[in-house]
Amino acid sequence: MANVFKNTTDNLLKAAELLELDDNIIGVLKNPQRIIQASLRVRRDDGTIKVYEAYRVQYNNARGPYKGGIRFHPKVNLNDVKALASLMTWKCAMVKIPFGGAKGGVKVDTSDFSISELERLSRTYIRAFAKNLGPWEDIPAPDVNTNPQIMAWMMDEYCHLSRQYNPGVITGKPIEVAGSEGRVEATAQGGIYVLQDYLKFNVYKNKSPKIIIQGFGNVGYNFAILAKKLGWNIVGISDSEGGLIGDKLDPNKLVHYKKSNGDKTVTGMLYREGSYAQGLKLVSNKQLLETKCDILMLGAIEDQVTKTNARKIKTDVILELANGPVTPEADKILDQRGIPVIPDILANAGGVVVSYFEWLQNIAGSYWDKDEINHKLKKIITKASNNCWLTQKEHKVNLRTSAFLIAVNRVIKTLNYRKNLRTVVIGKKVNTPD
Ligand code: NAD
Repeated sequence: MANVFKNTTDNLLKAAELLELDDNIIGVLKNPQRIIQASLRVRRDDGTIKVYEAYRVQYNNARGPYKGGIRFHPKVNLNDVKALASLMTWKCAMVKIPFGGAKGGVKVDTSDFSISELERLSRTYIRAFAKNLGPWEDIPAPDVNTNPQIMAWMMDEYCHLSRQYNPGVITGKPIEVAGSEGRVEATAQGGIYVLQDYLKFNVYKNKSPKIIIQGFGNVGYNFAILAKKLGWNIVGISDSEGGLIGDKLDPNKLVHYKKSNGDKTVTGMLYREGSYAQGLKLVSNKQLLETKCDILMLGAIEDQVTKTNARKIKTDVILELANGPVTPEADKILDQRGIPVIPDILANAGGVVVSYFEWLQNIAGSYWDKDEINHKLKKIITKASNNCWLTQKEHKVNLRTSAFLIAVNRVIKTLNYRKNLRTVVIGKKVNTPD
């Protein structure tokens, strides 16, 4: 079983070693500040009460209020929530937004929940953790299996408990409930900006690269639609049931079928839509990952490229829009094979950047249009990307270590000012962007 927290910590330790950080400060950085746990009692529609394990991990708030999504999934466990909270800390620092890192989760399979059950679960989560949340303390957002409607219920519950209109307590809300333009597609849009900058920086000649996309949820399908608009070729798409490959893949059609038929999987559509599927091949997820392409976008879940399949990946570059899809062992193999991995803490940061915009708009009570959002997003993401490529060249490390160097150095510098930790010595002067 994958130890995602260990993987994340290993990446942190690599940067800490290059920065020659003192053991005391490493101890501070590799442990969450606070772990809150609760048993949520939720009444099901049949009158029974079920109990679900729930977590909120507040990893680090040196640079601002804790920030991170809430996940509803049967496999949620404390270790993974810690890993995701750690990644949020480094992600916010990497793109230089004034937040710390946190994450929440409930171990639950909501696939058979009615709307009312989902609402009760969401409100119960907020009641359990409310005293540790707030616009200046900890600001949740959506993650796997949570969505804008759930954020609206959660915000409403928090406002009720705090007896104040407090929309900035949560981001990823519907536009009608103080949400932000551009938030739904922000993670995918950010990933596109990062990739465009990477291709430009590395003078990539192929103007319409062949892309394979793993995952067809919020991140995957928005990415597919945006990539198609740019004239890039989508030659493979998968979801939890399997994948489709072929030159005739049109993500717009898949999205249309998915939305209009209430379908959960892409592969289900293949079986139903024989005519559309002509020329496409049904493959397993394993086969999809090993199919030749120019860009492999991982937008599903963690732990997908491991030491078992890293030697079989045939792509020019991997873009991580999921959190933690490539393990440290796989990173080593990919490094040896010369396949760069654009790391999650940069590639999928678009979501939290637009969450930051949503929070700013909530606090100011004044709202921006989509062009303004995308313009500001592009500026932040492109600057962060450039910093990552330049730091990689300067220190001769891979892109993940470059991103961690920048992020960890920023957190350390803030901690030094705030806490005046005289024991913290940045021994070797490793220059990273301020
Ligand atoms: P989602 O629940 O909307 O979609 C997940 C997709 O992955 C679904 O299509 C599912 O069928 C597919 N999937 C699950 N297991 C799979 C497997 N083994 N192989 C192939 N496909 C599989 O979730 P999402 O919001 O799109 O998030 C996807 C990833 O991106 C997660 O790692 C999440 O933490 C990360 N992420 C999301 C956001 C965001 O704004 N939504 C922001 C940053 C990072």
